[in-house]
Amino acid sequence: MVDFIGIERVRQLVERRGAARFIEELAGEIEADFLRWSSFEKTPRHATHSPVGVIELMPACDGRLYAFKYVNGHPQNTSVGLLTVTAFGVLSDVQTGYPLLLSELTLTTALRTAATSALAARRMARPGSRVMALIGNGAQSEFQSIAFHHMLGIRQLRLYDTDAGATAKLRRNLARLRLPGLEVVDCESVAAAVAGADIVTSATADKRNAVILTPSMIVPGMHLNAVGGDCPGKTELHPDILRRADARVVVEFEPQSRIEGEIQQLEPDFPVTELVEVLAGRALGRRSDRDVTIFDSVGFALEDFSALRYLQRIHQEERGAGQEVDLVPDLDDPRDLFGLLLPQPQSAPRRGGVAA
Ligand code: NAD
Repeated sequence: MVDFIGIERVRQLVERRGAARFIEELAGEIEADFLRWSSFEKTPRHATHSPVGVIELMPACDGRLYAFKYVNGHPQNTSVGLLTVTAFGVLSDVQTGYPLLLSELTLTTALRTAATSALAARRMARPGSRVMALIGNGAQSEFQSIAFHHMLGIRQLRLYDTDAGATAKLRRNLARLRLPGLEVVDCESVAAAVAGADIVTSATADKRNAVILTPSMIVPGMHLNAVGGDCPGKTELHPDILRRADARVVVEFEPQSRIEGEIQQLEPDFPVTELVEVLAGRALGRRSDRDVTIFDSVGFALEDFSALRYLQRIHQEERGAGQEVDLVPDLDDPRDLFGLLLPQPQSAPRRGGVAA
């Protein structure tokens, strides 16, 4: 039997800790894994594109555990009542190749993306940053709000989305969360939202080279957390923002970000710094209060590896409530696979489904 973590189980695990603590603990796991960067076998994700979206496979392995995530990105899905991003994943034992955990990763991707964004911003944003513009108020936006409120001390959120309904939804959810000291301001344009912000998070979804942020909106000292540009031909920043003399661009895994990140718009030798260098203290996230720092996030398999291992641990700490799924045959004689298909004695346990 293989451990199974579904949507309801993640909901319970987040509820018991609180989303802010969950995200902070997960950020700790992600940071610890980034700091053992050389232990991981790393590869850009495998992407299968269609005119409306992408389906991606994201593997990572540290020699002991192997993880992969299946994830899609379909910006038009919301118009037919479906999520833009859904995901699930597996954690396996390298020694036997057996899967240990099958888990939902849709909620978990939003949690780990927010955790990674906040982790990077802690090293890149100006200390004392209190105001964040949040452009794109869809599925990821509450997670980003909680992470930046809790881990960065953001106290004013300036919201903008082309769909006023998305902003109204975010505002409603934030009101229910009652994050201490948080002021939420609706804005009429991207420029209005960005004006006066210390940090700008862009989490829009549009399968094209969109220009959400233009050079005139950016002032020295800002930190940009660019989350929504994560596919070839799908970006959010005007390239001249990246080319600013005072810009400092940090990416997760350079070979993947060259294909998928904002930097796909630039020449292939444009200088960037990998997040691990900043986390390890080998490079500065920011050199002065006037740098424009840019976390060009696309989402890297290592973050999902960390998330799956974190989920497995906290799930097992409360084992009684766990579920298992019969994904792999459990045989007395491993050569007798066919025996599974022979008629079973009446008293034999039913095989199939999910067991509590
Ligand atoms: P979503 O579809 O739920 O929300 C996107 C929102 O952006 C929508 O409300 C839409 O109205 C808004 N939008 C689109 N164009 C806009 C524009 N020009 N100006 C302002 N708002 C605009 O998607 P989501 O799940 O919240 O994901 C957001 C983006 O983040 C997607 O592009 C997704 O692929 C990406 N993503 C990145 C990572 C990562 O690790 N970097 C992880 C998850 C999702």
